[in-house]
Amino acid sequence: MKIITNKKFLNRKSKSVKFEEGLRIGNTLLNILSDYPDGVGLAAPQIGLLKRVFVIRFKNYEGIFINPGLLYEENSLLSSESCLSFPNKTCNVVRYNKILIMNQIEEFRDATLQLQNQIAIIWQHEFDHLNGITILDKDISDKKGISNDI
Ligand SMILES: [Zn+2]
Repeated sequence: MKIITNKKFLNRKSKSVKFEEGLRIGNTLLNILSDYPDGVGLAAPQIGLLKRVFVIRFKNYEGIFINPGLLYEENSLLSSESCLSFPNKTCNVVRYNKILIMNQIEEFRDATLQLQNQIAIIWQHEFDHLNGITILDKDISDKKGISNDI
């Protein structure tokens, strides 16, 4: 499976999925992510599917996010990030250290979840992919922040 690097495609917005389909896509994304030891997250548009699903795998944390929503964010910071779609680029992006999110956990059932620090930052990067936003679109300066390969 080749990861999409076409920015024009990655700038398209993804559509909601049915829960079962979301779960299937999520498991596919986790499998593909295993081929990228430095990768900590992957979103469906990066494998050519404009569907609202992404995954995070960072240290002991693993999560599949289906039709997710961002409810609240606080404590902005500058994050230095890479993206599996743009392997040779590092961008500096404004993120939030603490977020409250919504994730679909069953058909017709959402859960709210609070995320912090690295997981929160990775989550925002992947969530942006669902809205057609990449780190190249949000790069703000050449200051150094925290390093991630997402
Ligand atoms: Zn990315």
